[in-house]
Amino acid sequence: MTAAAARLDEGLAELDRSDLRRTRRTLDSPQAAHVTLAGRTLANFSGNDYLGLANHPRLKDAAHRALDEWGVGAGASPLVSGHSRLHAEAEQRFARFAGLPRALLFGSGYAANLGILATLAGRDAEIFSDALNHACLIDGARLSRAGVSRYAHADVADLEARLRASRAAVRIIATDAVFSMDGDLAPVARLVDLAERYDAWLVLDDAHGIGVAGATGRGSLEHWGVRSPRIVYMATLGKALGGYGAFVAGEARVVEWLVQRARTYIYSTALPPMLAAVAIEAITLLEEDRGLVAALRSRIARFHAACRAEGIEPPASSTAIQPLVVGSAARAVAASQALAERGFFVPAMRPPTVPEGTSRLRVSLTAAHSDEDIDGLARSIAAVLAR
Ligand SMILES: *Cc1c(COP(=O)(O)O)cnc(C)c1O
Repeated sequence: MTAAAARLDEGLAELDRSDLRRTRRTLDSPQAAHVTLAGRTLANFSGNDYLGLANHPRLKDAAHRALDEWGVGAGASPLVSGHSRLHAEAEQRFARFAGLPRALLFGSGYAANLGILATLAGRDAEIFSDALNHACLIDGARLSRAGVSRYAHADVADLEARLRASRAAVRIIATDAVFSMDGDLAPVARLVDLAERYDAWLVLDDAHGIGVAGATGRGSLEHWGVRSPRIVYMATLGKALGGYGAFVAGEARVVEWLVQRARTYIYSTALPPMLAAVAIEAITLLEEDRGLVAALRSRIARFHAACRAEGIEPPASSTAIQPLVVGSAARAVAASQALAERGFFVPAMRPPTVPEGTSRLRVSLTAAHSDEDIDGLARSIAAVLAR
């Protein structure tokens, strides 16, 4: 064996020793409220399909129709010939839905965040990044070569002190709008205020807010009732909206600059047209059916009530993400396994996804869960954590 290969084996052995080796569970059924895993059916609290759209008949119909008309692949990057009428329509529909001037369809949320930060920020910029931001905002900041100032989680005073001290030519505040491992909200209204006072861009990653937050599921901007030309808004399509891809939306000049300069947009094959059609259908469904968002809300309230009934303090989260912090990675993995034995699929989240010592069960709720699913989960969590 070469020394380089031996290093990999050592690295893998170290992951095993510290309970940090990740394995993929192979599903034998679509993403839904119940899934089949290794021959068993489990109530599924692991995904981000918050509105139950990933396998929704209307989204599947939209995909079928687009597939028949447009084929499978886009065949080229958007600036060459991969941009179709469906892509253009999806962008227009999303901009209207989000209440922003213009939108751009990226291949994924990860690609979108890398594109936004590396394009808006250069070496003369400073990026102010919440300590609990998602990995792709962190990677986008690195890729930009800007200075990075990491402020304490959701701490507006700390952020303001850093903005005040900054001498950078360009300032960018970057944050998850709903934090992916805690389900809590960034203080968006106060961030907009700081962005205006300190002449900064505010990059909002609403991966877990779109379809979830706001009275009609239009996301965190609706929830906070904020508008600002400084907001650069990113929403993934792979979570509540049930498909794949992502939108970046904001001022027309920002979007135009991304079209000209964002390397993750320019040098990557355009999204398959059928996924643009799926995005359009998801937006249409949300515009037509207020019941979906309301159903998710009622699932969240039910989970909190069920926790209380079982003597568990409910997570301090009003979103679909409901974390139960248990501490060590080993304890989180054991709890996740014990829940699986009882028929519930709840993943253990461990470092480096969450800070050391805060390994957790990450319960994610969807509009498709039944009362029995939720009550049974709370009962099983109480039994498993009491051990
Ligand atoms: C999932 C996620 C992303 C990445 O989006 P994809 O479309 O899955 O690449 C970005 N930000 C946050 C906060 C996420 O949870």
